[in-house]
Amino acid sequence: MTFVENITSLFSKITSVLSSFGIADALDIILVAFIIYQAIKLIRETRAFQLAKGLLLLAIVYFVITNIIDMQATAYIFSKVFSNVILVLIILFVPELRHAIEHMGRSWSSTLSFFGLGERKAVSESKMRTNFIEIAKACGRMSASKTGSLIILENKTLLGDIIKTGTITDAAISHEIIGNMFFPNSPLHDGAVIIRGERLYAAGCVLPLTQNPEIPSDLGMRHRAALGVTEQSDAVAIITSEETGTISVCYKGTIERGFNEASLRERLFELFLSDDDDSPKNLGETIKKFFEGLRKNEK
Ligand code: ATP
Ligand code: MG
Repeated sequence: MTFVENITSLFSKITSVLSSFGIADALDIILVAFIIYQAIKLIRETRAFQLAKGLLLLAIVYFVITNIIDMQATAYIFSKVFSNVILVLIILFVPELRHAIEHMGRSWSSTLSFFGLGERKAVSESKMRTNFIEIAKACGRMSASKTGSLIILENKTLLGDIIKTGTITDAAISHEIIGNMFFPNSPLHDGAVIIRGERLYAAGCVLPLTQNPEIPSDLGMRHRAALGVTEQSDAVAIITSEETGTISVCYKGTIERGFNEASLRERLFELFLSDDDDSPKNLGETIKKFFEGLRKNEK
């Protein structure tokens, strides 16, 4: 075939594909791109990223030994593993898949509001401000008296299954009540208090422990539980240490230490009341962000 014939046949192939290209194909491409984008985003934020890099390296090795250097025995083993690639991926990514499915179940109501249905009752900004002042005051006092405490501020991810492990208190938020709940040996002092909306909703709750192996060994169970819940949800956890009085804040699986009443209050305002949270709030925004991300990557 001459060069011109090659080009003509390529061109006719392209036009035949384009002529049968319908809305379903466009939606198909957008949906697949969206799923891949979300999967990469999910993996990048977890330890699974290392695993994915390892798998990519194995795939490259597999390609080299089968196509470039002909190593039959090794290639045979690799081909057996890669022929069940879906099964291998499911086994390797069990924690991430579990996490994603649990997350879907837990944030059922936030999914509804994501699609513009069933909005949760919003707490007014001034009420939030008053509540954060009370929480910071309680933590300042508990820090001074070295009283251990663990307060979880529920965000968009609902913590229903964690709340079930404790006792519903559904009280108004005040520094006196928080102090009372964590008072040593009081019936509800063990475990975490969950704040939902403008209520001190539950106490004595048991949280999942962190999965992160890199946590310093001097952090005990309270701090590990605080990190755990913030790895699995968008909640914010506040801890006062019984041993040192240190106030810490956990968010998205990271810990910031050494707060006092004033700096804790400011951090809470920043986390909940400032507008620079750029996470998408509904489907429309997610799609917009997706295309913005693509455009940025093109540049
Ligand atoms: P501190 O600095 O206050 O001593 P720590 O991180 O060293 O905190 P521990 O001394 O192990 O933690 O704290 C034990 C307390 O942490 C328990 O009494 C309990 O109230 C709380 N705690 C431990 N595990 C959990 C959990 N999974 N969920 C909620 N609370 C927990
Ligand atoms: Mg301890």
